[in-house]
Amino acid sequence: MRFDIISLFPESLDPLFSISLLGKARKKGLVEICLHRLEDYLLPGEDIDDMPFGGGGGMVMKGEPIIRAVRGVRDKNLKGEVILLTPQGETLRHRLVCELADLKQIVLICGRYEGIDERVVELVVDREISIGDFVLSGGEIPALAVVDAVARLVPGVVCGKVPEDSFYDGMLKYPQYTRPRVVEGLPVPEVLLSGNHAEVERWRKEESLERTRRRRPDLVQNPSH
Ligand code: SAM
Repeated sequence: MRFDIISLFPESLDPLFSISLLGKARKKGLVEICLHRLEDYLLPGEDIDDMPFGGGGGMVMKGEPIIRAVRGVRDKNLKGEVILLTPQGETLRHRLVCELADLKQIVLICGRYEGIDERVVELVVDREISIGDFVLSGGEIPALAVVDAVARLVPGVVCGKVPEDSFYDGMLKYPQYTRPRVVEGLPVPEVLLSGNHAEVERWRKEESLERTRRRRPDLVQNPSH
């Protein structure tokens, strides 16, 4: 699985892509993450941004450098998609993450300022994704979220059982405990110390359902999330 990230500040992402699961996955060659500096696609004398037609505050990222960058990095031989990170896109959810994990290349465009020239969307973008109904200053954090969530589904990246994570069976994960048995007077639920695997399993299922009903009733009502 290959990720190509086009950004004005690619160096801001490198430290987080070099540690923990993602860092190890890269070292093992399970995922490839290529960071591309948008300035490298500017023509001599060309600016990265300009004033919006029609007036208004802020600057808009020019389309042509982004289009050049996308066409430069997108490998048409790989099943892939070009994704623009934008608060106006489809919200990133588990179902969408699974869809993306089926691809071999994901090109992510990180916006800045007031956003990017709309013609980029018309010419080279396959999909627009938002990480939630709020506005960040740039697409780098959303890109990180997409890469991290999708990479976890690449076989071999996560050592434990990914299917036990929240959302896989449409539920939130049950509460978890580790040593010591008592923390500030709060004990671990007795059943987890019983050694009875069937009972532990039953307790976990119940807790998972109860937690999901309480915290995310929308998941219970609409399991396609
Ligand atoms: N003016 C734009 C609007 O109102 O839709 C917001 C621009 S925002 C300040 C700059 C960039 O941050 C966007 O182009 C996008 O790449 C990124 N961004 C901000 N919030 C985001 C979100 N919730 N999800 C994905 N990307 C986001």
